[in-house]
Amino acid sequence: MMKQNFDAMLKFCTSSTIFGALFAAHIFQGALGSGVKIDGDVILGGLFPVHEKGETTSCSSTIYNRGIQRLEAMLYAVDLINKDTTLLPYVSLGVNILDTCSKDTYALNQSLEFIRGSLDAMDVSGLECSDKKPPRVKYHAKPVKGVIGGSYSSVSQQVANLFRLFRIPQISPASTAKALSDKDRFEFFARTVPPDTFQVRALVDILQVFNWSYVSAIYSEGSYGESGFDEFHKLSQIRNICIALATKIPHNANHNFLDSALRSHMKKTTATAMVLFTRMDDTKKVLEAAGRLGAARHFHWVGSDGWGKQRHLVEGLEDVAEGAITIELTSKPVEGFNQHMKSLTPEGNVRNPWFVEYWETFFGCHLNTRPTEDLACDPDFRLSVQEGFQQDSKVQFVVDGVFAFAHALQALHDSVCRGQTGMCEQMRRYDGGDFYREYLLKVNFTNIVGSQVKFDERGDGPSRYTIYNFRKISHRTYNYTVVGLWDSHLDLDPMKVVFSENSSEAPSSVCSHPCKVGEIKIMQQGDTCCWICTACKPYEMMVNQSACKDCGPGWWPHDNMSSCYKLPHRYMKWDTLFALVPMAISCVGSFFTLTVIGIFLKYHDTPVVKASGRELSYMLLCGILICYLNTFLLIATPGVIICACQRFGVGFGFSLIYSALLTKTNRISRIFDSASRSARRPGFISPKSQVIITCFLVSIQVAATIVWLILEEPGARFEYPSRREVILKCRIKDSSFMVSLVYNMVLITTCTIYAIKTRKIPENFNESKFIGFTMYTTCIIWLAFVPIYFGTGNTFEVQITTLCISISLSATVALICLYSPKIYIIIYQPEKNVRKLTMNSAIYKKSQTHSTGASFDQGSDSVRFQAAVPSTPSKTRSEGTAENESFL
Ligand code: GLU
Repeated sequence: MMKQNFDAMLKFCTSSTIFGALFAAHIFQGALGSGVKIDGDVILGGLFPVHEKGETTSCSSTIYNRGIQRLEAMLYAVDLINKDTTLLPYVSLGVNILDTCSKDTYALNQSLEFIRGSLDAMDVSGLECSDKKPPRVKYHAKPVKGVIGGSYSSVSQQVANLFRLFRIPQISPASTAKALSDKDRFEFFARTVPPDTFQVRALVDILQVFNWSYVSAIYSEGSYGESGFDEFHKLSQIRNICIALATKIPHNANHNFLDSALRSHMKKTTATAMVLFTRMDDTKKVLEAAGRLGAARHFHWVGSDGWGKQRHLVEGLEDVAEGAITIELTSKPVEGFNQHMKSLTPEGNVRNPWFVEYWETFFGCHLNTRPTEDLACDPDFRLSVQEGFQQDSKVQFVVDGVFAFAHALQALHDSVCRGQTGMCEQMRRYDGGDFYREYLLKVNFTNIVGSQVKFDERGDGPSRYTIYNFRKISHRTYNYTVVGLWDSHLDLDPMKVVFSENSSEAPSSVCSHPCKVGEIKIMQQGDTCCWICTACKPYEMMVNQSACKDCGPGWWPHDNMSSCYKLPHRYMKWDTLFALVPMAISCVGSFFTLTVIGIFLKYHDTPVVKASGRELSYMLLCGILICYLNTFLLIATPGVIICACQRFGVGFGFSLIYSALLTKTNRISRIFDSASRSARRPGFISPKSQVIITCFLVSIQVAATIVWLILEEPGARFEYPSRREVILKCRIKDSSFMVSLVYNMVLITTCTIYAIKTRKIPENFNESKFIGFTMYTTCIIWLAFVPIYFGTGNTFEVQITTLCISISLSATVALICLYSPKIYIIIYQPEKNVRKLTMNSAIYKKSQTHSTGASFDQGSDSVRFQAAVPSTPSKTRSEGTAENESFL
């Protein structure tokens, strides 16, 4: 065992920077600072931060309340065990407690005291005194069997390196740095507290309860602050919390450093939540700096257990710290320890060399002055709760640590000194490493406050935290109030937290406020907290918080923007004015057309009807009727059949009218043309021929429409004049539609030319004149229709209405101009509706135009025959008239 220690020491001497310190300590072993030393069978070392760290020297003169309480807690626990007749009954515990001055390097120097016992037993065969005599051991220090401490993680980590070499088990009651769980580096380290991984979770949970997503952070240099902050940084990234600015406080940070650091933090105006992963002394410095800068109300502090619930820390800084949320390890107050402290007096507690200092600091008095002086300590002072004594929350963990050693020693005793009372040799020589693994880590007992104490395989204690809120209790009185707990998950009611005297409303600490519905976050890559809100386009939905997606034509986003719905299709509705007006026109027109057809049928054999060319008239009237009925096809809901009918109907109706009219005017023109040249009757003027010609002309339109229907399949399609509108329309291009009317335009143009040519022929009650009127008006309507049709293209209802009215208008013009004179005669002047009339009229006209070449100015073609061939026998004349009546 000793050999092992020495080898380890050599290894340590050559590899460690503390080589010099080790030997220096061995040489000046008696000169190291004072401590608490109590003899016993088994000595336990103790390392506590009795003093705060000095600015220029290692130790400051300021007593650290937590440290002295923990020291007393160890003494209290040792006393209990020594008095206990069941736990280690025949083995007394002694202590060797040293001050670490809250500083790792100083603590390491001090800790050399603990390994002195081991060094005394070193192999001296290689040494010789100056008088050539072999050296002999002058002083036998009892080796420590284990160490309780340190408190600051940096201290524990530093001394753990040394204890590892000398296989000294160590239990820390306060060091929470995650690194200490690493058993490769800190082989014999255990703690009654959990690693900071859990504290960080609690901290982040607290931030999330208040929706603080943009925070500032300050942490102490050293393993506690640095590894705590690293963990916090990692977890906050996962939980989408951003750290606006983080500052590390170096060991020797002065006022200037802290003031400028806090000023920088204050510039991050929206990151008002300030996470402090700092040692007690640094926490105090930060609060002081905030006080100096008048930033008391700017920050909302969230402190780690470095702050905990220490009252001394916030003394004089209450207004700065007000509203702070702090985390402390959950523990129960040890009632017996309060009694123990109350029982202590400076005179009675001689074993603790720092107790006088503590007493004077606590009561703010001087002991070594005359009792009459102002600052003299009252002999009745006691460290009672009534006088302001507040037990440190980690006292329980110190007591647990000491008892853990006692239970482990008991177990060791039970197994190696079976049947013996007191220490046996095996126990004395038992390897510390084995003791740690075999006994210490395996302890499982109920502690002084009734909780179970045990270590996990990494030597860590259970993770439970209490959440405090530092708040004003009454006028000038502030205190820490329990507001929540953390045991695997956070149990904290945010409403219980009071941030300032005047309001308990949770302040905000966010970089950007949430976007409204329909707005996405535009943020820089990797950033999760700061963004600009930008609205999606009206037709876009939100895919996630940062992307919009076009719903697509015919789709529109729901109000919540998370999905799209199909826009209802618009098409002409029967009950709108756009439909009712053309339908009314169409109905009236159809009615009159049918009336005309009826009258024509009734007066089928009268000269007026006969002279009109009955077959063509019926075809023409059918064309007019079809044109009127087209309105219904155009208004009907588009579908394959309706669209095909539309395309067919419009062209067919028009072609029927204008083919018939063209045939009519062409015939008249041909008759008069040929009459002027010869007496021979022109061909294709019989009614049959007329019908065939008309049918031929119509068939061209029909054929063209069929080709068109084949080339451009009929059917409905959606049109999107705007993103909000979906219009169900026939799949006809406006251009195709116009092309389909080209043939009719040709018919109209040709017919108009003939109408102009034959305008003065008074035949058949001046029909040519009326055909002329019809054609001129039709031309005007059609010329106007094209720009109107294209001009109204963006309002489908108006376009359809215009189209219907234009078609009906064309039909109406034909109906009125061509048939009203005839109907008038049939109904109101039946006396004129006689065969004779036609003849007489013709003769009358002829006689009037006799001398001027009547052949072009005569009325009916039959009359023209007579006029052109005046010598024709009367039989021929009468036959001609009869014939005319039949083929006109
Ligand atoms: N948890 C702190 C650390 O590991 C120490 C806190 C205390 O001493 O209560 O440094």
